[in-house]
Amino acid sequence: MKQQFINGQFIDAIDKQTFEVLNPATEEVVSLVSFGNDKDCLLAIDAAQTAFAAWSKTTPYQRAEILKKAANNIRENIDAIAHTMVLESGKPLPEAKGEIGVAANLFEWYAEEAKRSYGKVIPTNRVDKRSSVICQPMGVIGIITAWNFPAYNPARAWAAALAAGCTVVAKPAEDTPLTAYHLAETLVNAGLPNGVLNLVLGNAPAIGQAMLNHPHLKKISFTGSTRVGKLLMDGASKKHTKLSLELGGNAPVLIFDDVDVDAVAKAAAISRFRNNGQVCTSAQRFYVHKNIFEEFKILITKYVSALKVGNGFEDGVNVGPLITKKQQESVLALLEKAKAEGAEILTGGNIPTKFSKGYFLQPCVVAGLTQASALAQNEIFGPVLPLFSFEDLDDAIAKANDTEYGLASYIFTNNLKTATLASERLEFGIVGINEWAPHGTESPFGGWKQSGQGHESGSEGLFEYLEKKLISVGLSL
Ligand code: ADP
Repeated sequence: MKQQFINGQFIDAIDKQTFEVLNPATEEVVSLVSFGNDKDCLLAIDAAQTAFAAWSKTTPYQRAEILKKAANNIRENIDAIAHTMVLESGKPLPEAKGEIGVAANLFEWYAEEAKRSYGKVIPTNRVDKRSSVICQPMGVIGIITAWNFPAYNPARAWAAALAAGCTVVAKPAEDTPLTAYHLAETLVNAGLPNGVLNLVLGNAPAIGQAMLNHPHLKKISFTGSTRVGKLLMDGASKKHTKLSLELGGNAPVLIFDDVDVDAVAKAAAISRFRNNGQVCTSAQRFYVHKNIFEEFKILITKYVSALKVGNGFEDGVNVGPLITKKQQESVLALLEKAKAEGAEILTGGNIPTKFSKGYFLQPCVVAGLTQASALAQNEIFGPVLPLFSFEDLDDAIAKANDTEYGLASYIFTNNLKTATLASERLEFGIVGINEWAPHGTESPFGGWKQSGQGHESGSEGLFEYLEKKLISVGLSL
């Protein structure tokens, strides 16, 4: 049983309710977790507000000591944390370990980066005035995260906010809260003072409203759906809560006819199905030049058919279950729509019969789609790879940009001019050129259009949690 974590204490939810975390591969209960609501959230905000007084006055060097210890604790406990993550998320064990390694790196990186939260001295237009800008921690931050990366999503925001000198009320996703408990424990063991990080789980809309209604909660960092991101934007005007939003994506992949088609197809089959396609930066819409379309179609179908589906603990598994039955149904519904639109299923798309339990779905490749298709216009968040063709660069860019989302995009070509022009014309916050993982701890991650606002990670991510203050000194009195 996991309780709420408030002011350094593990305590029951005020209303004593609980919920079950399920293993998506077996549908068995992994753990009971206490189910809180707005009342628990208010308690946590109060604790974080009290803790802010002292934490915000520590130096970045003092905070770095704790965050670096936490990073090392995470590395030392990687096997136990990965085990928990596979149980609650279903993802393959090597993916879980990779993610936890990145989470540790985030704590270490921000431990160092906060030492560089420089302000500036500004030359003024008066001889009797001096001006400078300093950066100060914003205050209590609400951090609401999604289930698809149970370690990476919280670590990215927690590390930056804590390093900046803020205190945190975190609400991890109810589907995968257990990994977040491990992270919290590593921080506590590293010496994080009481109240600096609090964990509240339960009724998400009530907790979200409690955050938006509280004058001491200065910002919400949110990773999740565009739908909930919009709700938070609506509510943020009440107390002028600041927002950092990492929302949905619908990433295009442009594959030009000068590439090694086999190599790109082989890598695409791995990249698209990482975490079962439940990734907001996941390469989703595959636009392939008409000259290589048929060849790519045959190769990608071959490679995707060979992917091994199974329990994340099994050796050699590429694709685990989807996170919930609801998610499985939502992907199947999109596939049904595509079939009704005349789509051709080249492989997969069915529930594999060899599993009696779990939310598995056979990795799927689909062709015969138009730009208006449900599979082109919606974020799929599942193991489906839709294929489209394009005529030339203009056609590719027009199709790629034809979406309300603007997070990640990908270009595959060996022509420097094509790569340069395409990268400049894509309306996305991240562009990978011959690179499936363009983003890193040290670089800014943020969406254009309805994919978000603000940035996480990189130095930009630190400044999301710092306020700038102009200080001017008059010298004539
Ligand atoms: P997903 O579809 O990926 O689950 P959601 O946006 O529903 O994305 O969930 C992302 C996070 O937002 C989760 O922690 C979830 O509990 C939380 N959440 C869901 N609804 C709300 C809400 N109305 N207000 C605040 N947080 C919410």
